[in-house]
Amino acid sequence: MNAAIVTVGDELLVGDTENTNATWLCGRLADRGVAVRRVTVVPDEVAEIARVVNEYHAEYDAVIVTGGLGPTHDDVTMEAVAAAFGREVVENAEAAAWLEERGYSADDLAAETTHLPAGCRPLPNDEGVAPGAVVESTYVLPGVPAEMRAMFGRVESAFDGVPTHAVVVAVDEPESTLIGRFSELRERFDVSVGSYPGESVRVKITADDAAEAERAAAWLRYRAELVE
Ligand code: ATP
Ligand code: MG
Repeated sequence: MNAAIVTVGDELLVGDTENTNATWLCGRLADRGVAVRRVTVVPDEVAEIARVVNEYHAEYDAVIVTGGLGPTHDDVTMEAVAAAFGREVVENAEAAAWLEERGYSADDLAAETTHLPAGCRPLPNDEGVAPGAVVESTYVLPGVPAEMRAMFGRVESAFDGVPTHAVVVAVDEPESTLIGRFSELRERFDVSVGSYPGESVRVKITADDAAEAERAAAWLRYRAELVE
């Protein structure tokens, strides 16, 4: 299974907010064996959000959109996702009932709070107010990190890839000298190899089969200067 992530917000594009939601979601999806193929940041603009969601919905198995769910003027994500699917934004009775149960009457809330794409599955917000939504295979989550994480927890079982196994070997050699051993690793074993230079080079060996990843790591450990 693959997926794309769309993070919405002008504050991300001007560097006021670090995009920790994307990083967190990438980690969770990777843990579940889902291949994330795109992470995109878009401004709070209906046309921009709708264009990307429409394209990614056609291209990938699932799309996660975060940010811009609140009732303020700059929160246009629900309208944009509805537009991407050619749907209206309508009052969602289930979301309204859920909020009422939690003590929010319709009078307390901006009307837009319960306005969601027609025919969506609403997602309760356990850590906040604004509900999320599932439209076909697109999951719309809040931007506030705690709210986003809690809501992802409600839908994560839908993200069911084949988890891979990774072993990291820290090597005390310049990356350029390792190129030949990286090719040999890929020829000898059914693995993919990632190399992350820093003070040392972290070589990440990933395989569908844990034993195969371990065998490849052992082969490399035997043939490289390791970090003490
Ligand atoms: P609310 O209902 O509170 O308005 P929202 O879903 O509309 O929530 P945003 O308005 O987009 O969310 O963002 C709310 C806050 O969440 C931002 O001020 C920012 O601090 C944080 N936030 C938004 N997007 C991200 C992100 N991608 N990574 C980390 N933090 C984020
Ligand atoms: Mg907001």
